[in-house]
Amino acid sequence: MLSIIWRFYCIPQNVLLKLFESLVSPIALYGCEIWGPYINIERKNSKDIFDWSNNLICQKLHTQFCKQILQVNKKSSTAAVLGELGAYPLLLKVIGLTHRYLKRLLYKSRKDSLAYTAITDLMNNQYHFSWYQNVLNITTKFGININDSNATVKKKLRNAYKTAWLTHKNDNKKLTIYNIIKTNFEYEPYLNQIKNKSTRKIFTKLRVSDHILLIEKGRHTKLDYSKRTCPHCTDALEDEFHFIFDCVRYQNDRNKIMTYMNNKYKHFQALSDHNKCIYLMNLEGEDLKQFSEFCHKSYQIRSSFG
Ligand SMILES: [Zn+2]
Repeated sequence: MLSIIWRFYCIPQNVLLKLFESLVSPIALYGCEIWGPYINIERKNSKDIFDWSNNLICQKLHTQFCKQILQVNKKSSTAAVLGELGAYPLLLKVIGLTHRYLKRLLYKSRKDSLAYTAITDLMNNQYHFSWYQNVLNITTKFGININDSNATVKKKLRNAYKTAWLTHKNDNKKLTIYNIIKTNFEYEPYLNQIKNKSTRKIFTKLRVSDHILLIEKGRHTKLDYSKRTCPHCTDALEDEFHFIFDCVRYQNDRNKIMTYMNNKYKHFQALSDHNKCIYLMNLEGEDLKQFSEFCHKSYQIRSSFG
């Protein structure tokens, strides 16, 4: 199923996500109202809903899909990838559907039915590890009450996830640039606005630190931090800031984009590199096109000298 969808990767990522949600999720989550509460999501070192989500086996499929459609490495940060797409993990659906099922058993089933008898028995007797107890344990973690509406449950789960996501993202020290430019868990407009697939891919890679600059590449090859210097400017650490603002190798193209920005936005020149970075990485429309093309061209040059 995934490979069938993947053949259509030229279509926008938000459409691919919708396809996943309507074609793959129902299969991956089939019967989750029953098996969901029995999953041991609280494994060692799992401290919040972000970790628990990643412990769900079908979430691995979802995360892998998200990485594929963004065309990033499978080892790239899950927090960054899900954040770029504003893609909530499947665990939220599992909990939401289970809560809905419990309400249906209690309020919609006939009082003389076997299902109603079973659920009232589970509620009246504190059986250890019963389905009901497990549902209660999970929903209590998020302050979900039995009578909460579906919309309220969704909101509580999403808020809990967004808080955990922000903590995990900020704790990940390799996401130097991402922690500066990204604060909201929502789908990024640039994914639809950059029409050239290669340009979009490189722009994403720069944002989520899945690139060939030595600050990141050296991490994989265990190169000493002090030696992760630019091949052209030997004294400078080759990180995203150096690539965008300083490296002499891309100076000509950089002058063009910076002149363009200075002419269009009078305040731009006075900004620090830190603030310029936030500005540039969140551009839209023609400005985004100009800047992302600079990134693409410079990245190609960088790729050519290993
Ligand atoms: Zn350089």
